Amino acid sequence: MPYNEIEAADRSEIRERQNERLRETVRNAYENVPFYREQMDEMGVGPADIETIEDITKLPTTTKEDFRDEYPDGLFAVDHSEVRRIHASSGTTGKPKIVAYTEDDLDVWKEAMARSLAAAGVTEDDLVQNAYGYGLFTGGAGLQQGAETLGAALLPIGGGDTEKQLEMMTDLGSDALACTPSYSLYIAEHAEEQGIDPRDLPVSTVIFGAEPCTDPMREEIERRLDVNGIDLYGLSEIVGPGVSIECHEAQDGLHVWEDRFYPEVVDPATGEPVEEGEEGELVLTTLNKDALPVLRYRTGDMTSLNYEECECGRTMVRMDNVTGRSDDLLIVRGINLYPSQIEDTILEIDDVAPHYRIDLYEQDNLDVIELTVEQAEDAERGKDQLQEVVADRLDSVLAFTPDSLEIVDPGAIARTEVGKVQRVYDHR
Ligand SMILES: [Zn+2]
Repeated sequence: MPYNEIEAADRSEIRERQNERLRETVRNAYENVPFYREQMDEMGVGPADIETIEDITKLPTTTKEDFRDEYPDGLFAVDHSEVRRIHASSGTTGKPKIVAYTEDDLDVWKEAMARSLAAAGVTEDDLVQNAYGYGLFTGGAGLQQGAETLGAALLPIGGGDTEKQLEMMTDLGSDALACTPSYSLYIAEHAEEQGIDPRDLPVSTVIFGAEPCTDPMREEIERRLDVNGIDLYGLSEIVGPGVSIECHEAQDGLHVWEDRFYPEVVDPATGEPVEEGEEGELVLTTLNKDALPVLRYRTGDMTSLNYEECECGRTMVRMDNVTGRSDDLLIVRGINLYPSQIEDTILEIDDVAPHYRIDLYEQDNLDVIELTVEQAEDAERGKDQLQEVVADRLDSVLAFTPDSLEIVDPGAIARTEVGKVQRVYDHR
């Protein structure tokens, strides 16, 4: 049952809201953000040219570099006195991207996150263990507000301290766990080390996000912890977590709350829209944010859109789960490859644990790629035999041969307890 009836409304009603809110958003951006006004003037487009959502392609795009260039508050559309909260998304390089919310914006976020949790199957009787990081990162606050708005109970434990996570989960009977996919596996491993069968833990739903997660990785999480694994998507530049989520009924694509965040998919090279259902880069426009209206944000995340009605009854468009970013693309000796394709291929093999790393070097002006794969605890094949199987599979599925392929002992690859897991190390 949807949290908000708009989730299952007639498409024409959703369209109506999008049209109206796009007009308001463009007016706000044009009148109050010099960055957008200059770009639109240059393109010869004004608020009067935007009548329906189809007109969105007339608008300029926004990039992460724009956030950095306009640091700290050049993209704000309201006076500081109206701002109620500021978050920031950490960049590995340069200034963080600063995002701001008015009181109304916070309400929009809370509602979107409450919808998301309800779609995940969380009810007001449930206890949600929130193992996302708190602070400037939007993960912790987003989950917390959403759970409270829904009327569920929330345990704000934050990331890390796995010992305590397990103890409180068991003692309090947490129904849902929110964290990165890699951390949910870490918790499972830690439980096993303590002689606890992770399937006996009280959690029945893991809501994961902030990292890409391929289907085999999700299956591993579901099997190891005996849970429903629900993929949650969001990004600070747009709002934080709660832009889209899988419904627990179908678990087949993430419903985008498109009355609030409008999705387009474009060719990452040209920026032109792709055909419906085709893969490309996700572009998002906020339709409901006052402090920081964002027009056509180039997320870098690769996905496709599916407008077919879902078996859950929701009519809102579904996006495919994001397993790669356009800037993650590895180009090795003329072969274009996403790390997620490697993950997808190797995790299909029994005896391979869901832990691997990819190292990139440059030698004599050539790219060298080294792959390290962990053997599963209960592996039947020896390491040599497993290495052959992995190499064969990579070659037959991806036509890809790493320069070196090492199979290592169970537990040999470092785990990430706090923050996002790193799997690709570029030493070039
Ligand atoms: Zn659905």
